[in-house]
Amino acid sequence: MAVFKSELTWSFSRDRLFRDCPRAYYYHYYASWGGWEASAPELSRKAYLLRNMQNLDTWIGDVIHQVIKWVLENRIEGKAILPDEALNKTKQTLLKTWEQSRSKAWMNNAKHNLNLFEHYYNREPSREELSIRLAKAQRSIANFYGCGLLESLETLSSESFLKIDELDSFSFEGVKVFAVPDFALKSSIYTLYDWKTGKPSDKDVLQLSCYGLYAYEKWSVQADSLKIIPVYLAEEVVSLIGVKALEIEEVRKYIRGSIDEMKACLIEVASNKADIGKMPKTQETWRCKNCKFQEICL
Ligand code: SF4
Repeated sequence: MAVFKSELTWSFSRDRLFRDCPRAYYYHYYASWGGWEASAPELSRKAYLLRNMQNLDTWIGDVIHQVIKWVLENRIEGKAILPDEALNKTKQTLLKTWEQSRSKAWMNNAKHNLNLFEHYYNREPSREELSIRLAKAQRSIANFYGCGLLESLETLSSESFLKIDELDSFSFEGVKVFAVPDFALKSSIYTLYDWKTGKPSDKDVLQLSCYGLYAYEKWSVQADSLKIIPVYLAEEVVSLIGVKALEIEEVRKYIRGSIDEMKACLIEVASNKADIGKMPKTQETWRCKNCKFQEICL
């Protein structure tokens, strides 16, 4: 059986949580460690349960990502998935996972069954809210089909498809950095697509620039041979326009600084032992209302 060792790693989402609330970062990455074991302390098991929770928006986004991955993987096999099939799969997956959450199937397996924040904290959405989310999911899939990407893939061989929504990592100055490119493609140049199911954010450029560093480390891709495209699927009109990424050195500097700050919150870096006293609660208390760790945050 694999033995998991706690180690300090870095990802854009880890950095974001660290900045949003150091205490939530503590619960997510430290208190929850080992919480999958039945014999783990109560706090670890609870933190592990809560860390696997999703809210309505992350749930819908996750299902859209799953369906697009399925469409692209079939494309590699030479099978075209029709828009109606993709829409139907989206609806079926939403229904199946909604039922997992409603019936609390996550009590037996928190990792593989949806636990919705809104169910857990008794904030069941109204029918109207659910209809809005369902319409957003359907619009996102329809926009994926309508944006012209699939047509542009028609002449490409399956070797051009480098990565489809797959967790990957590279080593950065001794620390493992995780990246999950939604779709990496190699044709005359390299292109990284990032499916966005929310609104554009001022953090998007930094996130996409981290993918630029990933491409550099993975395939030695220089900036002039790389295009990074955020695809805002839920917008009324979707375009495939690339963003200007930050310089590689600037990205390295950011990640280095972030890792140093994370290390400064540890008692010992080698064993990745955290000091909760150095991971305070956020001063931005408006975040607490929607925080999945509110049940254990004393
Ligand atoms: S409830 Fe508030 S202070 Fe506590 S972990 Fe969540 S966001 Fe941070």
